[in-house]
Amino acid sequence: MKVLVINCGSSSLKYQVIDSDTEAVLAKGLCERIGIDGRLVYQKAGLDKEITEAAMPTHKEAIQMVLDALQNEKTGVIKSLKEIDAVGHRVVHGGEKFACSAKVDDEMIKALEECSGLAPLHNPANLIGIRVCQELMPGVPMVGCFDTAFHQTMPKKAYLYPIPIEYYEKYGIRKYGFHGTSHSFVSKETAKFLGMDLNHSKIIVCHLGNGASVSAVVNGKCVDTSMGLTPLAGLCMGTRSGDVDPSVVEFLGKKLNLDASGVLQILNKKSGVYGLSRGLSSDFRDLASAAADGNQDAKVALEVFAYRVVTTIGAYIAAMNGVDAIAFTAGIGENDKEIRKEIMSNFTYMGIQIDDEKNAVRGENVKISTDDSKVAVCVIPTNEELAICRDTVAILKG
Ligand code: ADP
Repeated sequence: MKVLVINCGSSSLKYQVIDSDTEAVLAKGLCERIGIDGRLVYQKAGLDKEITEAAMPTHKEAIQMVLDALQNEKTGVIKSLKEIDAVGHRVVHGGEKFACSAKVDDEMIKALEECSGLAPLHNPANLIGIRVCQELMPGVPMVGCFDTAFHQTMPKKAYLYPIPIEYYEKYGIRKYGFHGTSHSFVSKETAKFLGMDLNHSKIIVCHLGNGASVSAVVNGKCVDTSMGLTPLAGLCMGTRSGDVDPSVVEFLGKKLNLDASGVLQILNKKSGVYGLSRGLSSDFRDLASAAADGNQDAKVALEVFAYRVVTTIGAYIAAMNGVDAIAFTAGIGENDKEIRKEIMSNFTYMGIQIDDEKNAVRGENVKISTDDSKVAVCVIPTNEELAICRDTVAILKG
């Protein structure tokens, strides 16, 4: 099957066409600056990227341009839209309604509208992507894959916030968790790569990108994760604060004469390693080079980031009463050997040892712990698009 994978954000859209039989990416790219001016990046496998500046007032024009590029006589990968067998959509929030990916139908769209309050920046954009694809590709089956779904197996003791229970019952306020497609994919890949039985395994996945989260996975099922009601919770991230004392919202609001939304804007966009480094950068490459040049703020920002990952891993080892494997993934997790080494240096007490040579390998599944390490530590590149493609095919084949 040829599957079009769509990840629709508020002003951007990432896409891939994957042949599900070979799992080869036939073409991929993104639309940027939708609603502003518009830019299409298109790349057919084996060829250079093509960049086209073109007006994209709405997601409809953007998706139409993607479909046109896919059918382009010279560089396209399909002759007509009939060759697209299915579309897999990334959806950020599925609330409690979706514990796995599901076929897009009227009921799902209604449920997504109901969940939109939980992810006001993301779900409306995801819904637009679904609707536009339905309009432009009528009759093509579509599947929604939720960032929250994998975490729906968390037990109540992990997902309930200790606040009056009626707020959970009335408003659905609880921990949901995000990056679920990645945590699911990477935990499965880790077990496969290490030759472990997923059904008898305790795995910690550290998805460390601009947004970052850790999850604890027992026998293939998530039992805890660090993000919460929204992706603001948990670790220190690129620009997000992660966990802070909730009183900070009122305290800072009074100091800066801001309402709660104003403070949350700061916690979402101006905090994390960016805020700690006085706005130097949210990119770890910049911070690492500044720290190497003696910039103390950058050094501290990286230390805070690593420390939060350490304490979260430690908490999840306790939650699972042990761990068989720890996997690093996403931009920082896959590329930053220094951070991985620093994080893991706090677990020598339990017999974890990192092999520096293996830790320097990039771009592939690799076990970075020594052969006599008590726990296997790996780098497993995530592939959310492939995970969405696999889910789409599995759901449609029933
Ligand atoms: P997201 O998908 O959440 O936007 P990514 O998973 O793409 O984020 O991760 C992006 C981050 O990965 C960048 O901000 C950068 O800090 C980090 N990163 C990418 N490449 C490297 C590298 N070679 N060394 C260190 N960090 C890197």
